[in-house]
Amino acid sequence: MKVGVLALQGDFREHSNALIACGVDAFSVRRSEELADADALIIPGGESTTIAHLAQTFGIFDAIKQRISSGMPAYGSCAGMILLADEILDAAMGQKTFGGLDIVVRRNAFGRQVDSFETELEFKDGFPEPLRAVFIRAPWVERVGPKVEVLASVKSHPVAVRSKTLLATSFHPELTGDHRTHQYFVDQVARPALKKVQ
Ligand code: GLN
Repeated sequence: MKVGVLALQGDFREHSNALIACGVDAFSVRRSEELADADALIIPGGESTTIAHLAQTFGIFDAIKQRISSGMPAYGSCAGMILLADEILDAAMGQKTFGGLDIVVRRNAFGRQVDSFETELEFKDGFPEPLRAVFIRAPWVERVGPKVEVLASVKSHPVAVRSKTLLATSFHPELTGDHRTHQYFVDQVARPALKKVQ
């Protein structure tokens, strides 16, 4: 399985390193030919408006949207979660997303005074030990559609959710050296989804 990491802005290198640590063939995606080569895609943390804007400039916005809606597995962390959401609250004017995940997210939801924090999370779906999660000007999920499962929450706000082919977290597992979230994406989301397609 070849996993592309959208490398327009944000901490895409850390995601590539996490994938490599999981034994996965990871590469950067900036152009449509690179996207075409990817079986699955990671959308990193950074600034969701900038990533969307650059995706348009690089001419891959519509292609990413299209691949996601036709079932390409994808994982978005933080800004990546916003970009996978069907609806954003507190969006920048005219802000667009790739969409595909039936959730409503609130941008910068944890508030200015606590722009960044770390906490231990109980991750549903079989992580025996809690997960150390880093939140940086993070969104939270305000509503989930019927086919979306909540995997972890902070103060009853979902911060990790999945559908059949998509995973999104408000936090940044690529910054902690704990690769279980990436491994979860690879083994529990992407591989099963790709098997069904073949
Ligand atoms: N607040 C940022 C946004 O709206 C996300 C922050 C992050 O990815 N760490 O895109």
